Amino acid sequence: AKNAGVSQIRSFHPALKENFRQRIGLESALREALDRKQFFLCYQPQVSASTGRTLGMEALIRWQHPELGLVSPLHFIPLAEANGLIGHIGAWVIDTACAQLAAWRQAGHADLRMAVNLSATQLLDPYLEDTLLGAIAGHGLVPADLELEITESVLIQDPEQTVARFNALRQLGLRLSIDDFGTGYSSLSYLRVLPVQAFKLDRSFVEGLGKDETSLEICASAIRLAQNLNLDIIAEGVETQAQAEWLRALGCPIFQGYLFARPLVAEAATEHLAQERAG
Ligand code: C2E
Ligand code: CA
Ligand code: CA
Ligand code: CA
Repeated sequence: AKNAGVSQIRSFHPALKENFRQRIGLESALREALDRKQFFLCYQPQVSASTGRTLGMEALIRWQHPELGLVSPLHFIPLAEANGLIGHIGAWVIDTACAQLAAWRQAGHADLRMAVNLSATQLLDPYLEDTLLGAIAGHGLVPADLELEITESVLIQDPEQTVARFNALRQLGLRLSIDDFGTGYSSLSYLRVLPVQAFKLDRSFVEGLGKDETSLEICASAIRLAQNLNLDIIAEGVETQAQAEWLRALGCPIFQGYLFARPLVAEAATEHLAQERAG
């Protein structure tokens, strides 16, 4: 099997070989990114559908590499998951997001919440609780200030472990939400066993509003399901006034998307909050 692997690499198409080299390059660059302070967070407002006020911010990681430029998390998060770097990167995200929320609290934004994305590997990391509690206490916050966004696809990998991990995090008092709701191809019956407080209605369904009947039905069902289960639901990727109107008519309570604000660097997010309060 070892030999087969070697000959497979030798017979790689030149383009694939290039790809392979790029991946190795990207991986070693990623290893240095934390030390070289190449990561930063952007924050995207999650706004009330009725008042337009910012209820929370979602922290979204960015990697600015001197030669590669801005690398999308869609590229480097899977890589970091595969090579074990995600623990360190995730801990940096959690600490930085908590520090920022504490600063906003100090500036008078009393009820603001912070949402942080967790990948599958992070969820199963035995140090996760320590990292979370350390950052929360270290910045004078309480667990309920933080919402963890986790995609339902984690359930496919290891349902039993996932449920146990969700329960452990919930017991600590953290808020949990299901990211990209509706795209995970898993059974809805998991809702009976996962202690979540919110869904994030996937952008693909929001995008289809006003275009296809199926998207409308899926949005309507998801919103109704959230209402019936007494959960929050946040519509992702709201880009147009028409989409916001559809969602409002369906009873969606929280919006997030370019229509309201793009992900903002810390200074711009701070400015956004200050203006909102003044206005
Ligand atoms: P996600 O959690 O589903 O995040 C939403 C993505 O949609 C973000 O992309 C955001 O910038 C983008 N977005 C927001 N509003 C709109 C809109 O109105 N229209 C469109 N077209 N896009 C919108 P981003 O920042 O590139 O992040 C991509 C994914 O990378 C995230 O998807 C999340 O899964 C992952 N990610 C980002 N930051 C972190 C992190 O700190 N940790 C982990 N584990 N994953 C992260
Ligand atoms: Ca998310
Ligand atoms: Ca999402
Ligand atoms: Ca997504």
